[in-house]
Amino acid sequence: MSKTIPYGRQVIEEEDIDAVIQVLRSDFLTQGPVVTQFESAFKNCVNSLYATAVCNATAGLHLAYSALGLGDGDMFWTVPNTFLATANAARFLGAQVDFVDIDPDTFCLSISALEEKLKLAEKKGTLPALIAPVHFAGQPCDMKAIYALSQKYGFKIVEDAAHAVGATYDKKPIGSCQYSEAAVFSFHPVKIITTGEGGMVTVKEEKINAVIKKMLSHGITRDKSGMVTKDQGEWFYEMQMLGYNYRLTDIQAALGVMQLSRLKANLKRRREIAGRYKEAFKGLPIKWQKEEKLGESAWHLFTVLLNDTATRKRVFEQLRAKNIFVQVHYIPVHTQPYYLALGFNRGNFPNAEYYYERCLSLPMYHGLSNEEQDYVIAKIKEVL
Ligand SMILES: *Cc1c(COP(=O)(O)O)cnc(C)c1O
Repeated sequence: MSKTIPYGRQVIEEEDIDAVIQVLRSDFLTQGPVVTQFESAFKNCVNSLYATAVCNATAGLHLAYSALGLGDGDMFWTVPNTFLATANAARFLGAQVDFVDIDPDTFCLSISALEEKLKLAEKKGTLPALIAPVHFAGQPCDMKAIYALSQKYGFKIVEDAAHAVGATYDKKPIGSCQYSEAAVFSFHPVKIITTGEGGMVTVKEEKINAVIKKMLSHGITRDKSGMVTKDQGEWFYEMQMLGYNYRLTDIQAALGVMQLSRLKANLKRRREIAGRYKEAFKGLPIKWQKEEKLGESAWHLFTVLLNDTATRKRVFEQLRAKNIFVQVHYIPVHTQPYYLALGFNRGNFPNAEYYYERCLSLPMYHGLSNEEQDYVIAKIKEVL
């Protein structure tokens, strides 16, 4: 096969292109009606009360953490098996980042590790203000257990749902914030749906949503009812807090609306591909992600564990040589030089490190054909 098969990629249809062109011909390229339309469509899709479109999920995490009060010196916890942004966004706010190890079977946050760490932190007076569980590969974490612990120990929860557009937990879509304060999604082209760059923040509380909406655009409000000083005319606005420019454009939102309209078929195909991998790998020395009882994955990634790191390297290199662009998700965040300099060490989170040594993300996207997948499977069998 001469064509490159990546681990993930977008699918763009003619109707996506038409929708983008329509915005380009319209009056508003940004701050127009299509952003609002995208937010409404997304709200309906994930069953949330409030949604704010953002320029990427990193910005979304920054806004969500900040609106929920995370600040200088506060303790913030996430998992090492995530993209850097989950932790970095807490660092933007001066929070002290720490990690909770992953479960060796679900590759997501380990509930027993979390419980243990919370008990210890309570004794030391270092309980976290906020925890960000990551729905790794689209597989929801055990949110009921995390929520129960949040009630006991008093921390807030922001779901890093960058992988989980369309995933469900306990019969509700991720994004409904049934067991959290907020959820943040990414629309980078390798993710489930795309806007080029882009993201969405869904929240449960009107008050938090209002702060996010304000912070999204320089801390400005044009809502006369909420103004502190006297209204001076039609042009008047107030900057009430320090904010950013984290807005999504209408050009991107138009793409998002169309992508979202095909989400069902997208997810169905991803489930099919996952099923075909599992069937093909039965009896082979390959382990895949154990699914949470109450969760239904969106299958952003199909990540497998191989027997040892030498095998992983061999499979990685030989597949890459055949134009199959497999990838490794993730290098444990605490082993990055920036985090090592903050005091972390290799060996701090053994499950995440064990997992990293052996993991491999195989091609998984709804545009992948059976023929392409069969080729990938055949090559893996050949190497093993
Ligand atoms: C992609 C990703 C992000 C960041 O998303 P961007 O939209 O690229 O900023 C955050 N967390 C996780 C787990 C991701 O995979």
